[in-house]
Amino acid sequence: MTNVPTIARVTVHPVTYPEPNDSNAMRYLTFVRIESTDGHVGWGEAITQFPGSTRGTVEVIKGLIDDLIGKDPTQNIGIWRDLRKQTWWYSYRGGLAHFALSAIDIALWDLKGKIIGQSLSQMIGKRDSSAETRLPVLASTHVFNSDLDVEVARHAKFVADGYIGFKIGMGKRGDARIGYDIDRDVNFVKDLRAAAGPKAWIMMDRGQSLNWTLDEAIKRVVRWEEFDLKWVEEPFEPWEFEHFRKLRQHVTTMIAGSEREWDYRGYSETINSGTLDVIGCDVGRAEGITGALAIIKLVEAAGLWFNSHAWSSAVNTAASLALSASTPRCLLQELKPDENPMQHELIDEPFVPENGSIGIPTKPGLGINVNEKVLEKYAF
Ligand SMILES: [Mg+2]
Repeated sequence: MTNVPTIARVTVHPVTYPEPNDSNAMRYLTFVRIESTDGHVGWGEAITQFPGSTRGTVEVIKGLIDDLIGKDPTQNIGIWRDLRKQTWWYSYRGGLAHFALSAIDIALWDLKGKIIGQSLSQMIGKRDSSAETRLPVLASTHVFNSDLDVEVARHAKFVADGYIGFKIGMGKRGDARIGYDIDRDVNFVKDLRAAAGPKAWIMMDRGQSLNWTLDEAIKRVVRWEEFDLKWVEEPFEPWEFEHFRKLRQHVTTMIAGSEREWDYRGYSETINSGTLDVIGCDVGRAEGITGALAIIKLVEAAGLWFNSHAWSSAVNTAASLALSASTPRCLLQELKPDENPMQHELIDEPFVPENGSIGIPTKPGLGINVNEKVLEKYAF
């Protein structure tokens, strides 16, 4: 009988780091490292975002380690089901166990791929049979500068640097104050379109610190339509289905949302509301790769678009790229454009845009090499 490798060691690595793409605000992530008895290592990450949720997730993961040791990592989907079953008491339909499960699941897929010698993309399948799959790549940004001409020039440069376009988060840190005054917001998008050219994809994302009335949202998006936005994101809170429905009656711009859902139950509710075109999903939150694959099936069945919310580390980006490439119902991959510790320091070969597109990792597992020293440097 052959010796099947089993899980030998699980460790948790919370980090905090300054994010240049968010005005150097300190952000928090929780990494998991899973090592098998034959010496392979898998990495996973949860986008825990805040100090308390990071501490809580670390403890949830520590509490699950005994359930992982000795298991066959290639039976990762069964392990996912077992952990999900066990954590319902404190995370039914959402909560910290979903972060824990996300990080563990991503690490197990990475480990499984390394053991069997297949990339994540090979394991979960691609949208088509082409030899090389590339995705259009979008710069996912915030605006900070009070001088909007500076922001217009900055965003036009992202397009010149190899992005297909950009998505701008509004109501964020800094002094740009986009999302507050309709006339100013309309002029800003007009200037962005003029600077970036007619083909650039432009999206605007409300951001949760802004609170738009239905009336104000309709006025703003109707006026933006002249400048051909690809989509407008989260104009309302996720549960405000009637607001989404009414906005949709006034505009033809696609509407994106739901990145704050936790699992396929929440996603099926959102998708069945019939109010969205683009379904946002973070693999580091929505129960990992296994969870995201279930959500992708729902998106495909409804004929909507899947969009991975990948705004954390290169571990998340690697998993997101394979997920995005697994379905024909995905338009693009988002990437943070400014160099940052969790993308550019964490791995040897950071993801880069090239002529508007980005390649899918082809090496076994996630296809990246995590530098553990960087996790020590930013340890929380
Ligand atoms: Mg968003």
